[in-house]
Amino acid sequence: MIKLSYALYELKPLVTPSALAYLDPRPGALLKVEWNNGRTGYADVHPWPELGDPNMEEQLAFLRKGKISALIEQAMWFAQRDAACRKLKKSLFNGSSPLRNNYIMGNVSGVTMEKLDEIKASGFQTIKVKVGHDLEEEVKFLNKVGGTGKFMIRLDFNALANWQVFESFMSALDKKVLSYIEYIEDPIPFDREAWKEAKRFGKIAIDHQITRFKWDMVHDPPFDVVIIKPARQDVDKTVKFAMHWGLRMTVTSSMDHPVGALHAYSVAQDLAEKHPNIMNEPGCMTQDLYRMNPYAAMIETQGPYIVKCPTTGVGFDQLLAQETWNPVTFR
Ligand code: MG
Repeated sequence: MIKLSYALYELKPLVTPSALAYLDPRPGALLKVEWNNGRTGYADVHPWPELGDPNMEEQLAFLRKGKISALIEQAMWFAQRDAACRKLKKSLFNGSSPLRNNYIMGNVSGVTMEKLDEIKASGFQTIKVKVGHDLEEEVKFLNKVGGTGKFMIRLDFNALANWQVFESFMSALDKKVLSYIEYIEDPIPFDREAWKEAKRFGKIAIDHQITRFKWDMVHDPPFDVVIIKPARQDVDKTVKFAMHWGLRMTVTSSMDHPVGALHAYSVAQDLAEKHPNIMNEPGCMTQDLYRMNPYAAMIETQGPYIVKCPTTGVGFDQLLAQETWNPVTFR
């Protein structure tokens, strides 16, 4: 038997986290899982209804019915990883040197050259630009900044564009900018032929569109990079697929609660150690996208690095102990 309980929270975005989302507070829930062998583990469930996830209410209804969503399944896996470390009173984070994260630019509006110099000086080498707030402004920004060689650039369209919009956006970028683009994430809704065609602008990465892709070990996938969000997808299965096709991988958090973001970061560390040659810089530093909260305040960072992760398991022992946990009563 396991005992489940949850604590609801809200994250308050400082900027619109992507062209899909608004500044409204984002609800989620911390999950506490207690096994009858005395182990306890914690995880985060942070749905993105904008991307098709059942919302928080529906996730809770699933929990009560003993039904499993993709997010709940992964949260249970995270909780197990956490519990195993807590049992041994050790940290979930391996002792390897910290990984450099990319810098997330939810919106380029108002980002000055001074701000970029500051980002560069603090050690970031890669910026990830969420495309789609204002295409004209984004092209201007990229043509100004993208060709300077200061940063490698990851573009994320979140599949919001259609082929015409995508093609005209990419064609408006200077050649030099294209040479600094590490990859283009979810350029348009998944379509094998169109994605192959999109490769002429740069390497293509698949993120949320993976749900529309038929996993297949026979046909060459029309992309070069797989984004792994461990909060949403099975890690071993994704790694196996990527290795089979010689794809590179990037671990990112799900723009979720610090508990979720650090869980993702611990997976990034594990994979970087196991498969150093195919892992890209992760993107797990998403806590700054939201108004400061006591959990985010516990994460010690230095530029692109998470330098100190707190205490046992995924950390945050004291804060988790202070939460009001609502038991999940099965119906
Ligand atoms: Mg993405």
